[in-house]
Amino acid sequence: MANPAQLALYPNRGLTFARGDGAYLFTRDGTRYLDLMTNYGVNLLGHSHPAIVAALTEQVATLATVHGSFGSDVRARASIALAERLPIRDASICWLNSGAEAVEAALKFAVAATGRRRFVACTGGYHGKTIGALAVTHAGKYRALVRDLLFPVTHVEFGSGPAADAAMDHDTAAVIVEPIQGESGVVVPPEGYLRELREACSARGVLLIVDEVQTGCGRTGTFTVSEREAVEPDILCLGKGLAGGVPVGVTAVRPGIAERLGKGLHTSTFGGNPLAAAGVLATLSLLTPELMSKAERLGTELMANLAAAGARSIAEVRGRGLMIGVAVRGERDRILKGLQEQRILAIPAGDDVIRFLPAMIVEREQLNEVIPALDRVPGS
Ligand code: PMP
Repeated sequence: MANPAQLALYPNRGLTFARGDGAYLFTRDGTRYLDLMTNYGVNLLGHSHPAIVAALTEQVATLATVHGSFGSDVRARASIALAERLPIRDASICWLNSGAEAVEAALKFAVAATGRRRFVACTGGYHGKTIGALAVTHAGKYRALVRDLLFPVTHVEFGSGPAADAAMDHDTAAVIVEPIQGESGVVVPPEGYLRELREACSARGVLLIVDEVQTGCGRTGTFTVSEREAVEPDILCLGKGLAGGVPVGVTAVRPGIAERLGKGLHTSTFGGNPLAAAGVLATLSLLTPELMSKAERLGTELMANLAAAGARSIAEVRGRGLMIGVAVRGERDRILKGLQEQRILAIPAGDDVIRFLPAMIVEREQLNEVIPALDRVPGS
């Protein structure tokens, strides 16, 4: 159904979906699409997972929303359960409603904790489109209209510890980084990069904000990439699928920062609502070490198969676990459309990358459909 009453701010992919089940989306007439896009990673556990449906249904019928100035047991349990999974020891959590909001809070908390006002971010970095998050996002196409309204940020080469180090000065509050860049094309930095940033920040008393909105919640094989790299961020951002599809954003801070954040500094009407909290608890209980390693194994296999397939259209395959980028030669959007015509949904990233962010419940047989489908796209 056309939607003339909504602002046309998104590209139109020409399909209307009515229902989701597991790794599939269905149009109204029942046509089935393999969803390797998952709303940019939100449907971490697939569509309509029974345990998530049950948890959300029960919570919405009990208490969907209550202000943060009151207690909520489900919120308290979600906070404790999440804190236990984070790479920050004794983390304190600020509950928000989206990735961009989590980044906004992270930037403000860094200013509050350090008294400094400048940031270092990375070329190719994506942190959201609200005005604060946009200041640290790099792509000119998103920034152009409001460039003069953005606070000053130094963008340095992604992947280079020395470049970040050289850009820090006495007024730098924090460095913000994605451990693997998502929007700019699933760009994996050189081994040890996050650790180099950690060391440079610690040496200069600058905070390290790790934005794991896209990499987080298990799809790379560990709950966060930071923990795999044995890096303890000062501030960590999460979002996307953490609440089972209910909007959520998380800004977690280490002790030492938490004490500097006063009452009222940052609040949100919906932040930590019991419905989202129930989604978080259900999601965390499903994200077992077994499921995360299976996700990593299946992703590694798909990447190896893609690289070995030798399709003319494939220039490079990269990623970690079920966060996969395929750089293609030729018209990326035509290939994406060719996949969609074969009922496989993927996401564009950067200029020439097809990105797959499958649900962690995806099966090998489903992923095996990708290569033959790519082969069938004319000219690939
Ligand atoms: N940070 C990263 C790393 C992201 O990938 C995204 C979204 N793709 C965001 C922040 C912004 O999240 P949201 O769209 O939920 O505001």
